[in-house]
Amino acid sequence: MGYDAVTAVLTQKGIVVIDAGISNSLTAKYRKYIESEFKRKDFAYLINTHSHSDHTGGNQVFTDAIIIGHKNCLKEMTEYWKNKVKIKSQLSKIVNDYEKELDTLNPNSNELEEIFCQKSRYQSAYNDLLTNQIITPPSVTFNDSLCLFLGDVTLNLIYFGKAHSESDIIIHIPEKKILMVGDLFSKYGRPGIDDDNQDFERWIKVVKWIESRWTNIEIVIGGHGQIMSKEDLQLFNNYVKKKGRQIKRGT
Ligand SMILES: [Zn+2]
Repeated sequence: MGYDAVTAVLTQKGIVVIDAGISNSLTAKYRKYIESEFKRKDFAYLINTHSHSDHTGGNQVFTDAIIIGHKNCLKEMTEYWKNKVKIKSQLSKIVNDYEKELDTLNPNSNELEEIFCQKSRYQSAYNDLLTNQIITPPSVTFNDSLCLFLGDVTLNLIYFGKAHSESDIIIHIPEKKILMVGDLFSKYGRPGIDDDNQDFERWIKVVKWIESRWTNIEIVIGGHGQIMSKEDLQLFNNYVKKKGRQIKRGT
């Protein structure tokens, strides 16, 4: 289960936002919060770590910025949003399931708040669809990597290869020693890598890229706000290398 994670980085060239949450209505609130924290409104870029609707659903809130994603992000979003009727019924089912769950929970239980938050997220995504949501894919895409020089801060965007989705990227900010990994992994595992996945050479290349910048990484941020350590990153890197070797050998 994941929450919306909308990360904002202040740079000399404006605010950069990473991921836009699940819905326009919630993300509009996150935007207001960012504006009041930074006391400015100059959003330069929004970067999508991948195409999934819980990371791109609020893109419309940042159309004053340049929206960046991997080229497959555009392809996946176009494919996903083709069938709005299906999405609407999926969201409605999720909301109903959470509602039923809420009825069974003790009002004082810890779970109640979590389930209530999840229900609100999906409900707001559903409401977006009722109000003829404008789907807003990235306006700038890249294939391999992209570097943004923003004065005091540099953002290195690297395509990871087909993994959790077909558009997963990592974002490294050397000046802040931050690596953002989207949904590639979380503290509890979940590398979404299939056995028949043929992008293993690319994963290994990217893992080596990460390793060559090891001293410039201290904080690892997941796609749902989880702050992870370099130990978690090391586990992921090891897993990817092992998986890559297995696929190469055909075992
Ligand atoms: Zn995802």
